[in-house]
Amino acid sequence: MKFLKRIKLFPDEALESYFIRCAHSNGFQKISLFLQSLSAFISLRDKELKGALSASLSRLNLHKAHNSSAYRVRAIKLLEEFCDLQPSCLLRVAVLRTNRHFGSYVALARSNVLFPNIMLREHVIPVCPLCLQERNYIRFIWHLKPIQRCPKHQVKLIFNCPECGNDINYIQSENIELCSCGYDFRQIKPSEKTEESMSASLFESSENADKLSLEFGKYLWFSKHSGVELDDDYFLPKFNRYFSNWPDNYLSYLKTQESKAIEKQTSRFNQISVNDIWCEQLQNTRLVTTNRVNNLVLDQLANYFIDLVNRYPKCQHANIADTLINQVDSALLLRTSVEQVFRLLEDGYLKVKFGVPTEAIYKPHIPIFYLREVIELTQAQGSNTSMFEHMISAW
Ligand SMILES: [Zn+2]
Ligand SMILES: [Zn+2]
Repeated sequence: MKFLKRIKLFPDEALESYFIRCAHSNGFQKISLFLQSLSAFISLRDKELKGALSASLSRLNLHKAHNSSAYRVRAIKLLEEFCDLQPSCLLRVAVLRTNRHFGSYVALARSNVLFPNIMLREHVIPVCPLCLQERNYIRFIWHLKPIQRCPKHQVKLIFNCPECGNDINYIQSENIELCSCGYDFRQIKPSEKTEESMSASLFESSENADKLSLEFGKYLWFSKHSGVELDDDYFLPKFNRYFSNWPDNYLSYLKTQESKAIEKQTSRFNQISVNDIWCEQLQNTRLVTTNRVNNLVLDQLANYFIDLVNRYPKCQHANIADTLINQVDSALLLRTSVEQVFRLLEDGYLKVKFGVPTEAIYKPHIPIFYLREVIELTQAQGSNTSMFEHMISAW
């Protein structure tokens, strides 16, 4: 089977947008009917694929499939054949679930670019009227919360229909350029160009996948660190301003926390945790990237702690470099796994703070090591730079 009318897929197009255009150009106004007939054809070809394709556009993408995502991949491959597309074309524009994480957020992937699931818009999917005038399809990046302006035309994306005021969402209205009230978004005169944001060229080349994944991780970290919501109107200008002073602003934040802790010290430093002073900074570095390398925030934080240990050498009384750190955070500094940190403990490379009950050793979130000793070990093992993903171990 082939469609009577076959249409081109744009590399930056959202999968749902392509299905809407395909349905409309083949005479289906209701997308659910189109998806049902596709489903029927697909299951005729391969019985296992019965029900693999959702009949609802909002559940069509691959990250929305529950148990049958492997079958859905097979169904999508058949569709590529029906649509006369190059192999893997549709898969490349689909959003896939991965087994990787940005901190506690699942990483999704599209065209090898990783981004945290929390970054996807749910209710509103804004449009750029100028893009629609040029080509009538939905660009995937409009699905991402931090994108408030069109990277190509530098104008504010439109979130609400100027006629009826409703949120714009082409998946709900099953129409790319028309609101459900009939208004054509291509008529909108966009606001004046404003300085932006994210370089359009980053999106245009598939070679930039790693760079973009890292950029999205930095967005997530920045949002958590600075309290600026991912969908803030000025997210990208604020982000760019922050990173134009990087790393001075971050180091000065860390030093401010340090001074406050020294000023307000209520108990001895060897009784309090690193997180009491620097507020989960180590855990937050996990938001930056899905792997242990290329983490610019962790690099700065590790260097800061090395400097701290140098500035506050060991002396008779505990000082701020003698605060306590848990196994999970130690693993981050040592660029290794919690299991390996436990082995370092068993093998005597790391010492537990005096008086820690044995059961605490099995609870990786309880601070049991001295920051100083963990830092000294990172230096001894050469694991204080992002070049090392695993420890150079003595065993
Ligand atoms: Zn545009
Ligand atoms: Zn409307």
